[in-house]
Amino acid sequence: MRTCPVFSLVIPVYNEEKLIDELVRRTVPAIESFTADYELIFVDDGSTDRSAELILQHRKKNKKVKLLSLSRNFGHQAAYTAGLEYSAGDIVGMMDGDLQDPPEVLRDMYNKMTAEDLEVVSGIRSGRRGSRRRNLTSGIFHFLFRHTGNLENIENSGNFSIMKRVVLEAVLSMREKVRYIPGLRAAAGFRQGYVEYVRDDRYGGKPKMTFKSLFSLAGDAIFSFSKLPVRICLILGIAGTVIFFGAGIYFLIAKISGAAVPGWLSTFPGLYFLGSIQLLFLGILGEYIYRNYKETQNRPIYFARKFYDEHDENEEDQ
Ligand code: UDP
Ligand code: MG
Repeated sequence: MRTCPVFSLVIPVYNEEKLIDELVRRTVPAIESFTADYELIFVDDGSTDRSAELILQHRKKNKKVKLLSLSRNFGHQAAYTAGLEYSAGDIVGMMDGDLQDPPEVLRDMYNKMTAEDLEVVSGIRSGRRGSRRRNLTSGIFHFLFRHTGNLENIENSGNFSIMKRVVLEAVLSMREKVRYIPGLRAAAGFRQGYVEYVRDDRYGGKPKMTFKSLFSLAGDAIFSFSKLPVRICLILGIAGTVIFFGAGIYFLIAKISGAAVPGWLSTFPGLYFLGSIQLLFLGILGEYIYRNYKETQNRPIYFARKFYDEHDENEEDQ
């Protein structure tokens, strides 16, 4: 039987060999500053470098360091999901593995949670040291997300957070395949609190999420938490149709007064009308597809190869 520690921390890693040592060096004391009863779960998201090997070396020295090895690269959000599912702590934290989320902030989160009897405490970025271009992209993303999703307080709050087991279970019970965990965590409700922190530069290595994958993450976040995209169609369609009827009156007047250019009336209004009607119906169709799409995809979010925790005896033959 697995014992349940007070605190579990989940860190996804994908080809981070350059910073594993520094990550463990900073994270372990940061956790030990508020509890000695913890587990530190690294999720190896299909790394092709020495990340897993380095983590297992740390594990030899400290059995609280655990490794969940996935069968291939599934992406950041899937890796978090996997780690969260394997975690056993009463309180579970999520932290990126590139030291952009300073591990020392975990203690502030924990103190805030206990002092104010909160169920979720997440980090809000009060500033950022990352590159200009990235700050702009992520600023745009958070702006869009705040204005399109029906969720409060999501602005600037990312993965970095700790939550109680009840919240974790709520988050994990949402089985959608296109996942954006900060959105799910906000959608779960519960008593939420925030700790401000300055997001650091990546400690080493290159960002593992390319602009393309960030763009697609933003798409996932917006498409799974709001109807705005299909609504735009619908609204444009309705507006187009209404304007067409207004224009119809003008066409009539133009015809009667003889101001219309020959041939114009027989082509232009027809095109315009068909265009608007099509948008309108595309919008309606979109509403159905959107709902359907949310229900149908049913593949597992990840596949695990092996979990290195306290009960595996043959760790050597990995
Ligand atoms: N990561 C992962 N799988 C991936 C991409 C990234 O597990 O497919 C990890 C990565 O190792 C890091 C964290 O997710 O610990 C955040 O990635 P990154 O720093 O590249 O994202 P960004 O900070 O640029 O959003
Ligand atoms: Mg990063």
